[in-house]
Amino acid sequence: MASVKELSSLDFAGKRVILRADLNVPLKDGEITDDGRIRASLPTIDYLVSAGASILIVAHLGRPKGERKSELSLKPVASRLQKLLGRDVAFAETIDQAMKFTERAQPGEITCLENIRFESAETSKDENERLVLAKKLAQLGELYVGDGFGAVHRKHASVFELASILPHAAGYLVAKESEVLEKLATNPLRPYGVVLGGAKVSDKIGVINNLLERVEMIAIGGGMVFTFLAAKGYAIGKSLFESDQLDVVKSILLRAKEKGVEILLPIDIKVAGEFKDVSARIVGIEGIGENDLGLDIGPQSADDFAKAIKKCRTIFWNGPMGVFEFSNFREGTRVVAEALRHVDGLAVVGGGDSAAAIRALGFADSDFGYVSTGGGASLEYLEGKELPGLVALS
Ligand code: AMP
Repeated sequence: MASVKELSSLDFAGKRVILRADLNVPLKDGEITDDGRIRASLPTIDYLVSAGASILIVAHLGRPKGERKSELSLKPVASRLQKLLGRDVAFAETIDQAMKFTERAQPGEITCLENIRFESAETSKDENERLVLAKKLAQLGELYVGDGFGAVHRKHASVFELASILPHAAGYLVAKESEVLEKLATNPLRPYGVVLGGAKVSDKIGVINNLLERVEMIAIGGGMVFTFLAAKGYAIGKSLFESDQLDVVKSILLRAKEKGVEILLPIDIKVAGEFKDVSARIVGIEGIGENDLGLDIGPQSADDFAKAIKKCRTIFWNGPMGVFEFSNFREGTRVVAEALRHVDGLAVVGGGDSAAAIRALGFADSDFGYVSTGGGASLEYLEGKELPGLVALS
């Protein structure tokens, strides 16, 4: 992928800057449960303030689909940002209100615009609708900085069209993420292994297909593993299953064999009778009962995964190994994270969920080679896809 324009390529002094950030943090009952993405946006904001810019932050939260939903307001995020920055952050409920703020903004002043996805045009499939919104947003600033890595794979108005209208540069986060992923994409130390988990196979099929050409080992856990186990003929009880992915998974298993890529699957599973944080039973993969729900990889599998990970010099991990939100089903994820800490080489944790999982388990970002803020974006980067938000900043 072509390299992105650096912050130093623009003169920000006295300029009104629109900063597209990724502040899409997990919330529970209105409280932020992991502020990693807000923290990751701070270096660029600090830089812009020091360079004498006034800043309008444009960001999204969740998927409101063009409706104003109070539970997806960016207000609590703006408050946290204010606290972390130690500077005032004004909040604009609408674009018109933001216009009033930005018109008279002084250097160093920061305004956060309400969730841009409250505007249906932001995510519209209609290019013209997106362009109309982007042109309206473009009136709020003179320069554009793209730093929302978690959204760069989206062709959205504030990510793609807006960047194309205004003179632009990439923020520190986007530059750093691109640099690390480029290393994985072009010149990884070998052996190169990938660990995939999380809920859905369909989200990760593309990356698995592409990675078969590039890696020596793919370890699979999480909810997605049960479609693999089903494809190999095992009974999976009431575990997550995507029947429409069965043939694709079978062809992946076949291609992996042809290419000599090891697909590491669990040999034991932690199951429960219901989707609750109840005590787990450990069964071999031949022993999953009709009413069992597989909610984590078992201890022997976790051990196998850890050994395989430690043999690699490059590891990319996306997606928890089990329902880490339940204390009885987080051990697989913890063991995998622990193994990643000890990789002699580059270990990258990719994605909002995986990053939140490691922090919830007590790990620090500094325990790993790199913790990416973007799940979908990092996967698509590794798939070799062109990411609209990066193309626009090149
Ligand atoms: P993803 O966004 O695809 O990375 O999925 C993350 C989610 O997958 C987490 O919220 C986990 O609770 C969930 N998950 C992981 N393993 C399982 C499983 N065995 N069954 C159901 N959900 C799972």
